[in-house]
Amino acid sequence: MPTTRLAPSPTGALHLGNARTFVVNWIMARQRGWRILLRIEDLDGPRIKRGADRQAVDDLRWLGLDWDDESSRQSTRTDVYGAAAHTLLESRRAYPCICTRSEIAQAASAPHADDGAAVYPGTCWGKFADMAEARAAAGREPAVRFHMPDETFDFEDRFCGHRRFDLARELGDFVILKGDGTAAYQLAVVIDDAEAGVTDIIRGDDLIDSTPRQVLLYRALGLADRLPAYWHLPLVVGTDGKRLAKRHGDTRISYYRERGVRAERMLGLLARWCGIAVDEIDLQQFTEQFDVLNVLKDRIVFTPEDDRWLTGK
Ligand code: GLU
Repeated sequence: MPTTRLAPSPTGALHLGNARTFVVNWIMARQRGWRILLRIEDLDGPRIKRGADRQAVDDLRWLGLDWDDESSRQSTRTDVYGAAAHTLLESRRAYPCICTRSEIAQAASAPHADDGAAVYPGTCWGKFADMAEARAAAGREPAVRFHMPDETFDFEDRFCGHRRFDLARELGDFVILKGDGTAAYQLAVVIDDAEAGVTDIIRGDDLIDSTPRQVLLYRALGLADRLPAYWHLPLVVGTDGKRLAKRHGDTRISYYRERGVRAERMLGLLARWCGIAVDEIDLQQFTEQFDVLNVLKDRIVFTPEDDRWLTGK
């Protein structure tokens, strides 16, 4: 059965950009009769904020969203991801890496645009026969990195159209398992999506660079028959053109909720970003009027006027 997922990371509160992605994801699923899973992506240990998981669920419910099933939290699935990393080591698609912890920690999070992550120069590629040798050289547990072939990669995004990447030069080898045994975002997402039978992934276009990495993991793990379709939506940015973040003021859903903004008003703003000219709208009307072909193709700019309009000031 066609399946999609809402996958909040409890590394902070959901903001208007997240709200747009989750609402569009939900509407597309309900319009097309897809199954919706909720998956809390709580792998990013040090960046996880206490209570942010509950808050994310509250915010989604406040917007009117629901789901048909809930996946296990990623933090409970260390063994499953570890086994997949082991398979990739065995097949020589991945290799031990003993580069610094801070570099690996940065490389393991979901790589949203503006992060400026550098392409890994391949320092540890071909250096160690196995994990034991790398462990002995480093005096600690190595990380595991996936090796990118020197090839171009073409794919058809359902929303953005055709994309081409130079795998080795633009993306480079990437971390799939940290030295502490925690899986990196790329690996966990592929294992979870494949296992849950996710057929359609809808997310912000700041994650489009992750798609080639994830598709290569599907193939290397023998999961090519489960490859999903990808829909990358234009990102919501501030007036400086950067991904919505703290520097743009408080854009958390909970901030507006606390100010008494009604869900219909927030949905109204999200609807306008989807080409529906309304002030306020409920989720049902939004679902009836939504057409993915009308979603604005350019990045969406959230302005101080939008903020004043939302709060009625
Ligand atoms: N949990 C991820 C994030 O919030 C989303 C991952 C995905 O949709 O693939 O960044």
